[in-house]
Amino acid sequence: MYIIMLGAPGTGKGTIGKILSENMNLMHISTGDIFREQINKKTELGQKIEGYISNGLLVPDDVVIETVNTRLLEEDVENGAILDGYPRTEKQAKSLEEFILKNNKTDKCVAIELSVPDEEIIKRIVNRVTCSNKKCGAIFNTATKPPKKEGICDVCGSTLKRRDDDNEETVRKRLAVYYENSKELVEFYKKNNAIYSIYPKDLDKAVEDIEQYLKNVNS
Ligand code: ADP
Ligand code: ZN
Repeated sequence: MYIIMLGAPGTGKGTIGKILSENMNLMHISTGDIFREQINKKTELGQKIEGYISNGLLVPDDVVIETVNTRLLEEDVENGAILDGYPRTEKQAKSLEEFILKNNKTDKCVAIELSVPDEEIIKRIVNRVTCSNKKCGAIFNTATKPPKKEGICDVCGSTLKRRDDDNEETVRKRLAVYYENSKELVEFYKKNNAIYSIYPKDLDKAVEDIEQYLKNVNS
């Protein structure tokens, strides 16, 4: 099964995606994480996409599609994956359907849409700090969920980092870009697949509700 996490930046796609990934034993694939790694490593791809990301714009579809299709052919995602941040446009959604057909996969796509009011999103993002250890990736919030020791991850002790694109101006841009595409994406999944929409107020409850929904669509 491919679980597609839809939702504006800061709605909890990463946090919830990681919990689902552990509970359901599916890899968590975040296009944002893949791109940030490429930028840090200063690869050719990283250099090509850096400008889009720091300005809150979408990376062009053909670049994203090629990156994801390559990743999805790896062995660890044979049985599906949690896709966090992909698809983000209708073209990417269609491409994913084609990919599944072409590779003779019988897997279902199920979309989970997370909705949170904009002002809450902005508060979440401008205070967001993330563990720099890629294997951990724990997320904290200096206002609502501070780490026990400033700048240090509670889980693994690595340093915490703020994302370069997590400033208010870029967040507002990212929100606008999300809303521009989200309607047709949600319509796409309503028409072709299954979609569950939720306002994840309480994290544990949201995960529970989503898992219940996924059980029902699979039975
Ligand atoms: P967020 O959802 O918090 O904005 P992500 O980590 O998912 O953050 O993505 C960060 C940035 O990476 C996006 O603002 C965009 O520039 C780029 N990006 C990630 N996924 C995609 C995608 N599927 N299509 C186009 N651009 C993408
Ligand atoms: Zn950590």
